[in-house]
Amino acid sequence: MEYAENILGTIGNTPLVKLNKLTSELPCLVLAKYETFNPGNSVKDRMALQMVEDAEAEGILQPGGTIIEGTSGNTGMGLALAAVIKGYKMICVISDKQSKEKMDILKAMGSEVHICPTDVAPDDPRSYYSTAKRLSTEIPNSWYVNQYDNPGNAKAHYLSTGPEIWNQTDGKITHFVVGVGTGGTISGVGKYLKEKNPSIKVWGVDTYGSVFKKYHETGIFDENEIYPYITEGIGEDILPKNVDFDIIDGFTKVTDKDAAVYTRRLAREEGMFLGNSAGAAIKGVQQLKEHFTKDDVVVVLFHDHGSRYVGKIFNDDWMREKGFIE
Ligand code: PMP
Repeated sequence: MEYAENILGTIGNTPLVKLNKLTSELPCLVLAKYETFNPGNSVKDRMALQMVEDAEAEGILQPGGTIIEGTSGNTGMGLALAAVIKGYKMICVISDKQSKEKMDILKAMGSEVHICPTDVAPDDPRSYYSTAKRLSTEIPNSWYVNQYDNPGNAKAHYLSTGPEIWNQTDGKITHFVVGVGTGGTISGVGKYLKEKNPSIKVWGVDTYGSVFKKYHETGIFDENEIYPYITEGIGEDILPKNVDFDIIDGFTKVTDKDAAVYTRRLAREEGMFLGNSAGAAIKGVQQLKEHFTKDDVVVVLFHDHGSRYVGKIFNDDWMREKGFIE
């Protein structure tokens, strides 16, 4: 018999899938690292489990304890899975721009959900960063995960996602393209791949309204780059410790409209029912076209599942209201 001891044993070992229609104008092979095959339907299951197991090993997460995190939903889902199996209480602090589906999913998994305003500065006491921190000081026997700065985040991708991509491509990968939020995925995978072959190029996909691209190019944290945007999961108004700018070769910015439109195209042209950041990632690959040649093997990572966006990206009224479709 072959079975996992519990659902956490099914995290990782996701497939690589060739893109066909949306990459027909590109000279190279483009492969998607398809992370929705994880049990929580996103790449975040990997780092959630790693951070919980690191905290247990360090003794900062004790039996019967409460896990607290500020999360756009996917990390919350991964943490909720770990909490259910390992017997912890879970509190997710989420910003109000996140889809209702994400909030409902967290509740379905037994999490308590606190909703905070999006349009306040990170150090404002109402922000989801501040609220998560405050709750962790008020609730006894609780642990604030802090995926932005927690080294277990990038480490999970260094230990699992990176080696999987290297092995699945037989070491032939030449470029890795991925959306950047906390930076865990790009930094962990990028570090592993560059240790294997320093000539592999690592590109981040950023949003308009986020600081990453400008900071990478100039070293300046420019507040003028920060404004509200619609794309979920990528871009930041802070510099998380998990973004290792040294292993990143460059960033490309994708508009909210393109991210939304390309998320729909992935579903209808490739049969890939994915989240908003996947649309941004594949548009990012198209924007980087001039960097690719015939023999290149480009891997783009798709973070999460389309079911979390049925009320938004996949809803015609919402798309029209935002001016993304006629
Ligand atoms: N896409 C989605 C949907 C996400 O939830 C996240 C995590 N915020 C990302 C992309 C970015 O991944 P990372 O945090 O590892 O940079």
